[in-house]
Amino acid sequence: RSKRRGRGQITVYSSEIALEMKRATQLEQTLRNAIIADAVDVHFQPIVRISDGAPAGFEALARWIDKDLGFVSPAVFVPLAEERGFIDTLSETLLRKAAEAALSWPRDLFLSFNLSSAQLMDPGTTPNILSILRRVGLDPNRLELEITETAVMTNADTAHRIIEDLRAAGIRISLDDFGTGQSSLGRLRDFTFDKVKIDRAFVSRISTDRASEHIIRAIITMCDGLDLSVVAEGIETDVEASMLKALGCRYGQGYLFGKPVDAAATLAYLERHNMEIRHIDRLG
Ligand code: C2E
Ligand code: MG
Ligand code: MG
Ligand code: MG
Repeated sequence: RSKRRGRGQITVYSSEIALEMKRATQLEQTLRNAIIADAVDVHFQPIVRISDGAPAGFEALARWIDKDLGFVSPAVFVPLAEERGFIDTLSETLLRKAAEAALSWPRDLFLSFNLSSAQLMDPGTTPNILSILRRVGLDPNRLELEITETAVMTNADTAHRIIEDLRAAGIRISLDDFGTGQSSLGRLRDFTFDKVKIDRAFVSRISTDRASEHIIRAIITMCDGLDLSVVAEGIETDVEASMLKALGCRYGQGYLFGKPVDAAATLAYLERHNMEIRHIDRLG
């Protein structure tokens, strides 16, 4: 009897998996079409100097609103594109759009772009990125690539080589979601990074949880010693910002300073901050 029930459960379970796979395949097709139709967009969120709120750069974040599905989170469609093997196509489109937008920003502002873990295993990544930058005309010195600890550790040798190539070309590397991934501090020593982004999980608890405060303090001390720049992610309140400032964290990102907005709204944001917009001759 229990056997029969067991079998029944397996049947139910596998039909759920089948349904799930069918949904993923439908979503994959919809996403592929959206990329072709140029319907996947990129938004920008300011990364600011905490002391005075001045923008230092922007992180590009993928945005896709489907006419039937509505808003689909990049936390859903980026991993899907990775699994189904077209993250390079998606990422190329996004980087091109982001780099084109960055041409209009003041020259001292950087563009930060998320690299997926699959891209960190693909030797074609560096030449692809450099050729996009060349075509668009964005200086590699203005680009930062955000990678996660887990992505670095998954295929450490290949990742190491790609990171070195990118840095040799003048691109900076920042370690995203720091503190949440699977890494050992010892292994991190083998890689060269320029920046560390403290995950929102610690930042959002800084005012209520002493442990989070201590962890953030330790990360900042470590980064100071290693000459790494530090950004705190997901700052939503003045209290969080002032605590981070007191701990010596120089840069921050979060809804307190600005939500991700499209390219046009990003220019309006820069104007509000009295920053000169560069007018690009698009035909030139
Ligand atoms: P991430 O790179 O860690 O990006 C930060 C996420 O935190 C973004 O979510 C951003 O909108 C959100 N965020 C920023 N400030 C706040 C805040 O104050 N409060 C809260 N609650 N959230 C805040 P988003 O845009 O949904 O992106 C999710 C993740 O998807 C990103 O995490 C990144 O891993 C991935 N992603 C987004 N765009 C791209 C892309 O173009 N390429 C790749 N490979 N991954 C991307
Ligand atoms: Mg990021
Ligand atoms: Mg992050
Ligand atoms: Mg994240």
